[in-house]
Amino acid sequence: MNPVPWHWLSYLEAFFLGQPDPCPVCQQRSVATGWPGCASCVEALPLAWHSIPGMRYPCFCISPYTGRTKEMIADSKYHGGVELARFLGNVLGIAAQQSPELVGTRALIPLPLHPERELVRGFNQSRLLADGIHEWWKPPVWDVMIRVKPTASQSELDRRQRRSNVRGAFALQKGNVVRGRNVILVDDILTTGSTFLEAASLVAAFGGRPKGLFVASGRIHR
Ligand SMILES: [Zn+2]
Repeated sequence: MNPVPWHWLSYLEAFFLGQPDPCPVCQQRSVATGWPGCASCVEALPLAWHSIPGMRYPCFCISPYTGRTKEMIADSKYHGGVELARFLGNVLGIAAQQSPELVGTRALIPLPLHPERELVRGFNQSRLLADGIHEWWKPPVWDVMIRVKPTASQSELDRRQRRSNVRGAFALQKGNVVRGRNVILVDDILTTGSTFLEAASLVAAFGGRPKGLFVASGRIHR
């Protein structure tokens, strides 16, 4: 019997196992097993686990809000970067599962957009981040928080205006589900923390123990 030509073997392998996935960030290089993206895209992020100072509830992020991280967050939000948001979530999930501060987490709760804004954007990037985290780390995603008040963009407002802008913006469906539980609120950026604080206070009012997990924070400097 003749040996099977190698190209047939590689054809069969590609057929049954699939081609290696292209990197969700650059779409060019392939992704090695156990990585969320290609090595150069992962290494382009200034990743490190940070506890964010000065917050009422424990908050963590993996990058300062600068450079490549800042660009990726903008791309994931405004240029339909669904894959990119999921990638950032994957990286967050890898970091979170190694973090002793988050042991005992019961669920991930994405910070919601107002339905009108989500309709325009087509997705909620915090939900995609939470899905990405869940792909690497076991707590489930709970869609229990909703935005009941449309709010102006926070970026043009000062700290006091931000706080009143988001006051009463959120509601918890099945609020009792958080009672006595460690839950993590997920969002892409923490700047002054007004939005997070409003959502976290709501969780605390229902007897939950909120923490925050973000890709980046302007409160962190390298
Ligand atoms: Zn890449």
